[in-house]
Amino acid sequence: MSFNPADQIQDLQYFGEYGGVNPSISDSSTYTFLSAKKMLDTFEGHAPGCYLYSRHVSPSTLYLAEALAAMENTETANVSGSGMGAITTTLLHFCNAGDQIVSSRTIYGGTYAFLKNFAPKFNIHTHFVDSTKPEAVEAAINENTKVIYCEAVSNPLLEIADIPALAAIAKKHNIPLLVDNTFSPLTISPKALGADVVLHSLTKFINGTNDTMGGVVCGSRELIDGLRNVNDGAAMLLGPSLDSIRAASILKNMRTLHIRIKQHSKNALYLAKQFENLGLKTVYPGLESHPNHKLFKSMMNEEFGFGGMLTIDVGTLEKANALMELMQKRNLGYLAVSLGFYKTLFSAPGTSTSSEIPEEEQKEMGLSDGLIRFSIGLDNDIERTFKNMKQCMVEVGVLEN
Ligand code: PLP
Repeated sequence: MSFNPADQIQDLQYFGEYGGVNPSISDSSTYTFLSAKKMLDTFEGHAPGCYLYSRHVSPSTLYLAEALAAMENTETANVSGSGMGAITTTLLHFCNAGDQIVSSRTIYGGTYAFLKNFAPKFNIHTHFVDSTKPEAVEAAINENTKVIYCEAVSNPLLEIADIPALAAIAKKHNIPLLVDNTFSPLTISPKALGADVVLHSLTKFINGTNDTMGGVVCGSRELIDGLRNVNDGAAMLLGPSLDSIRAASILKNMRTLHIRIKQHSKNALYLAKQFENLGLKTVYPGLESHPNHKLFKSMMNEEFGFGGMLTIDVGTLEKANALMELMQKRNLGYLAVSLGFYKTLFSAPGTSTSSEIPEEEQKEMGLSDGLIRFSIGLDNDIERTFKNMKQCMVEVGVLEN
């Protein structure tokens, strides 16, 4: 691998004001100028190194943005107060009234709801397609299409986007490919595979401590300057900005991202193999049975593994709920949405994170009632965890004794 996203982060060296080993946190929402002329220049974007107002950028949000751009190998980046803040402003940046988006149909429920229910208010309409079939994506493109949108590893079905194939289609039609990489930081580098824009919810693996929200869009300088433009920039005007204190804490957590991702991946691979051996319907990109296993292998940054997300299908929602409640009682994880925590998190997506998707459509895309989505934690002894999970499965009737 010539480009290593973890090394990119490690090579960034920032010092604090007094020689601190961490950069100083900018505890100001506004900044003074020695001359009025400099203030005007800054307003117009002609004064690099000067700060105006923290809805735009602050030194702390810039440090974090630079680290994320380095990780995703893009020119620059803009951070925001949540993943949805990054996704919605970026989509609104690219699309005007009358434009269209071609999107994967298996995406995070919030993004789906934005495209399906909210964007049409502005006469922006979306064709939802099976993005594991690049030919279906190409067939949906028309003269009004302004964006191709997908998740590298989809939430919650863990379908894998063929990024090089989608990037080739995007280039051919001269439209940008936007990839949400929330489920696969470090393991997949969409830009290196041809994507134009990479988005993340920082709330998940990247921060990793489930204490703050955050989001980022990584892309060209032209895109990021456009998003931050004081006259018509979607990020500047809609204002989903990240606070400096939170930006600083996320940056510190990024320093251990490579270690955490390796452990999440190791534990998830172990559990996925064991679950599959027990005869459970298990979906994990690291399993040979995953329909996109080979594709994932061809795209992955190998040392980081196949990621921390897996699903099992236990047949019914009742069984899924009983199993999750018992696993929580036995302290094997938490019944909670979100992902990327030190502790395993589990939820039934049909009634939680994907509940925005109508039941009929859930069925069509293979999102069944008994599906449990796991974000596998950093457990030290995953074999012990597995034995205890297996016992829970027996007790609630998911497995025979
Ligand atoms: N993208 C994906 C894949 C997600 O799973 C989520 C949240 O669950 C988001 C984006 C939205 O991020 P946030 O909750 O930080 O707004």
